[in-house]
Amino acid sequence: MIVDVAVPVAGLDEALSYAVPAALAARARPGVRVLVPVAGRRLIGVVVDVRAAPPARELKLVADVLDDDAVATEQQLALARFVAGYYGEPLGACARLVLPPDTDVVAEPRFALTERGEQARVFSAAHELSRVDLELLGAFAPGERKRERQLARTPARRARLRGLVERGLVERVADERLVGAVRFDEAVVPLDDGQALPPRAPALAAFDAWLRAFCAQAGRGATRAEADAAMPGARGKVAKLAALGRVRVERTVRAAARAAPAVPGKRPATALNDAQQAAADAVLAALAAKAPTAFLLEGVTGSGKTEVYLRALSAALAQGRGALLLVPEIALTPQLVGRVQAAVADPALVVVLHSGVSVADRRDALARLRAGSARVVVGARSALFAPVRELGLVVVDEEHDGSLKQDECPRYHARDVALWRAKHEGAVCVLGSATPSLESRHNATQGKLVTLELPLRHGAALPALSVIDLRARGQQKEARRRDRDNADEGPGVVLSGPLVEAMAGTLAAGQQVLLFLNKRGYASALFCEACGHVESCQSCSVSLTYHKRRHLLVCHQCDHERRAPSSCPACATEGMLLLGLGTERVESEVKARFPDARVARLDRDTARHKGNLERVLADVHAGQVDVLIGTQMVAKGHDFAGVQLVGVVLADVALSLPDFRAAERAFALLAQVAGRAGRSGTQGRVLVQTFQPEHAAVRFALTHDAKGFAAEELELRRALKYPPFSRAALVRVECADEDAAGALASSIAGKVKRAGAALPQGTWSVLGPAPCPLERLHGRSRWQVFVRAQTTAARAALVGWVRGDAAVRADLARAEARLVVDLDPVHLL
Ligand code: ADP
Ligand code: ZN
Repeated sequence: MIVDVAVPVAGLDEALSYAVPAALAARARPGVRVLVPVAGRRLIGVVVDVRAAPPARELKLVADVLDDDAVATEQQLALARFVAGYYGEPLGACARLVLPPDTDVVAEPRFALTERGEQARVFSAAHELSRVDLELLGAFAPGERKRERQLARTPARRARLRGLVERGLVERVADERLVGAVRFDEAVVPLDDGQALPPRAPALAAFDAWLRAFCAQAGRGATRAEADAAMPGARGKVAKLAALGRVRVERTVRAAARAAPAVPGKRPATALNDAQQAAADAVLAALAAKAPTAFLLEGVTGSGKTEVYLRALSAALAQGRGALLLVPEIALTPQLVGRVQAAVADPALVVVLHSGVSVADRRDALARLRAGSARVVVGARSALFAPVRELGLVVVDEEHDGSLKQDECPRYHARDVALWRAKHEGAVCVLGSATPSLESRHNATQGKLVTLELPLRHGAALPALSVIDLRARGQQKEARRRDRDNADEGPGVVLSGPLVEAMAGTLAAGQQVLLFLNKRGYASALFCEACGHVESCQSCSVSLTYHKRRHLLVCHQCDHERRAPSSCPACATEGMLLLGLGTERVESEVKARFPDARVARLDRDTARHKGNLERVLADVHAGQVDVLIGTQMVAKGHDFAGVQLVGVVLADVALSLPDFRAAERAFALLAQVAGRAGRSGTQGRVLVQTFQPEHAAVRFALTHDAKGFAAEELELRRALKYPPFSRAALVRVECADEDAAGALASSIAGKVKRAGAALPQGTWSVLGPAPCPLERLHGRSRWQVFVRAQTTAARAALVGWVRGDAAVRADLARAEARLVVDLDPVHLL
């Protein structure tokens, strides 16, 4: 018997074949993890295929089978294979998407304390132990297994460790047991028949007392985390108590998941409105017919898309099928989880999966899904790979959102993989958005998606938008500037007269204002008026943002920080000017204008402090905040009932990025921000400040005309042969040496063009090589080649060979450069 094994290690692109010894044959099935020899190491991989064919050549043997039951289902393996095949990503990396989160790849020997070792570290005087010996023994928690490199990094320490093994104080744990196929939680349980506590050890006694009280009350052992939280140094104290026989450390395969409590959810609507009912009926009909239909649900913000999802979910569950609900951002999950739990009969059917969920909880959730006791997953893009049984429904909310694209290996777009998975498993797929992506609209025109529409907000009117043309103001400012010798911009620049007036009116009426600006910090750059010097980041090609409160210049790409100079580093002229603005500047402006208003700011700077985000959001909901200022963090999804006025401080931030999707994204963002105004009762107002009032994204946003915007933008894309009218690929070379990056990119571009010569003219094009818009990032120069082709097959002919090409690989290795081949790229900067 032969197995094909995907090993999640960089550089292993293909599955590797192994023969299976007779003794292991019964357990070697697709989806189990195995230990296999790879280039002198033993690594953990997952079996993706089992074949009976006689080996053509002599194969290496599988060393061990680590699971009794498959940890990845057939469907998950198919999904991993699809991502590997479509995106050209290494199968091993794709396999990692479907494996439990704690799968160790490298099987390394581990060590554990023996009973004698436990005693030795409590009664160290009785043993001859050096300082290093004591440190090594002290590093173990009771029952803990540690890897050699966690314990001893130097040869000298490794020698001491071997000495301890020889003396029987530490044991080497055998291979079979150290793979971590299953990890355990540890619970500390008090025992009644231990030895007495040593005299003069008050801390130990206090801990012992705490533990007993805790366990008596909780009716269970204390977890390590609980013990650590209760008392500093709990680890060592548990060890001492264990040595005295006063406690036992038990391993339990996790009990109940300690999933973070969801935001208590609103119950689903008792009656749907007509549009919602029509949409729900269409989805329910497809579910009933078990037809793998894919829908595009276009509904303005607050139109009840979620209500439609919930109806479909209940129907799928009633059929005994499972469901996947994806949102683009972790921050949006609690809200949805709450509503989903309120909609299903038993909240335990629902699990949450995203990178913010602890490894233990994720592992537990996966096990429950495999067993079928949980049937619904709510999560971010990685949740798409969960082992949902009998998948009936896949929902991708905010399907236009760029966060659904994963931009590191393995690269994939969760919306597109969701469509494939739903089809492959016979499930119904619903893509929802207020501003559907142009790709999805195009797919709808082509009949691949069935469009459903919710044109109205439920129970409220859409807000009235108007634009404030900043160009006129700019001219006034110039005139004023000539009048004054002080060139520093006074108040009035950030907030125009009409916006200030509207704010005053809203605040006077006791309602809330939200100000949106997609740029944090105080000013976007520090600029020398004398020589034109701009302070920028040495490793990234961006200007440093000035943060006034901390008086720091910060790189928003790599987080590099340095003190702001008072004179120009280039020409030593005193007094640098501040250019552009950020949320911090808006905040100080608002405080100066409205000294009595309660002002809060939400961006990555303020959210950095733990709990701040939740606190500010709660304050806004409770009406404790009059003016909320924020970046896109406040734009998406939140349902603020009291916000009556939304001010977009500078729409231009999003309009002019060098990316063919810039306008599409700016439009979606404006629609999202506008969606925060007037969500309950009276009609809200939105004022958009901009220097480009004629920009399509602004014009169509004013009339909530998503279709009109899409039609115009699609025509542009068609004319320029951009996606969705072509299949794009971005080949990027990143290298510390700028010249090498350019040379490599140009050699690849040349080969791509030669490959294109075999294709009909006009069906493909190659742009570049050119430096990426972000020319330097994290200290690496970046060059790109942008490829468009009429079909995926043509695209494969153009760039399919790049990754595997021996000459390219050799060049990359020589220059220590990195290659990225991004198919259907979303982020082009
Ligand atoms: P979306 O997902 O499109 O943004 P939601 O489903 O969140 O819209 O609906 C917006 C608000 O309107 C929610 O508070 C929701 O509970 C309410 N709502 C929507 N449809 C109905 C309905 N048919 N009956 C009662 N309330 C509804
Ligand atoms: Zn930087």
